[in-house]
Amino acid sequence: MKGIVLGVGLSLASSAVVAQGQQGDPKATEQWSPAVPVVTPGAFAGWTAPADAVVLFDGKGLDRWASVKTGGAAGWTVADGAVTVKKGTGNIQTKQSFGSYQLHLEYRIPANITGEGQARGNSGLFLASTGPGDDGYEFQIMDSYNNPTYVNGQLGAIYKQTPPLANPARRPGEWQTIDITWEAPRFGADGAVTRPAFVTGYVNGVLVQDHTEVRGGTVYIGKPSYKPHGKAPIKLQDHGDPSQPISFRNIWVRELPERG
Ligand code: MG
Repeated sequence: MKGIVLGVGLSLASSAVVAQGQQGDPKATEQWSPAVPVVTPGAFAGWTAPADAVVLFDGKGLDRWASVKTGGAAGWTVADGAVTVKKGTGNIQTKQSFGSYQLHLEYRIPANITGEGQARGNSGLFLASTGPGDDGYEFQIMDSYNNPTYVNGQLGAIYKQTPPLANPARRPGEWQTIDITWEAPRFGADGAVTRPAFVTGYVNGVLVQDHTEVRGGTVYIGKPSYKPHGKAPIKLQDHGDPSQPISFRNIWVRELPERG
C-alpha cells in the first residue's frame, strides 16, 4: 500500500463507472518509482511436482485447461514439452477450482522478443480467476530484462498494486521459475471481505512478494475492489500485444488447508 500513486478525484460513484466501462485514465494507477533493484539470480533450479501436487501441465497436453472465452478446449500450442500462448485465442484457465495453494511454474520469453514496456513478453498468472477476461488477481509475468515499465506493472508485481521487491529477470530465451503461496480471500455471508488475500512470490528463487496483502481484483483502470467468490480457477494471460508469445512448462499446484 505504501507509496502507491492512486488516481485522484475518483468518487465512489465514478469508480463504479470505471469498473463497468473501463473509463478513466490508466496512467493514474501507474507507479514509476522507486526503481526496483535488479538482482542476478543463481543458476536455474526447477523441480518436478511433489507427490501430493495436482499437475496442471506436464508438457503433454492441456486437458486440465479450458478457454476462458469459449469454455471449450484451450487453444494454446503444445510442443516440445511446453505450452505457448496462441495470440488471439484469449486467456486459459484450469478446469479445477482452488482455494489457497502453493504453485510452481516455469516460463520462457522467446529469445527474439521485440517490443518495449508492457508490450514485450507480457502474460500473467491470475491467482484466482473471478470472471471473464482479466478478472482476478494478476501476478505479472513479462520480460523485465532491461525493459523498464511502471514498477507496479513489471515482472513479479501484483498488477497495479504492489511492485516486486527485486527484479530477478533472466535474459530472453532462458527458462525461469515462479513459485507462489496464495492465501485466498475470505468473505462473510453479506459478501464483505473478512480477510484479504495474501501473496508470497519468488521469481528465479528470489523473493519478490513477501506476504503481500492484495487490495482486491487487479484492474487496468481504477481502484481495486473485492467481490465475493469461492474457490476459483487459475488463469494464464494472452495479453494481446504484438510481441512474440511466451511459453510455459512444469506447472503444478498443492492446495493448502485454510488457516485460522
Ligand atoms: Mg500481464
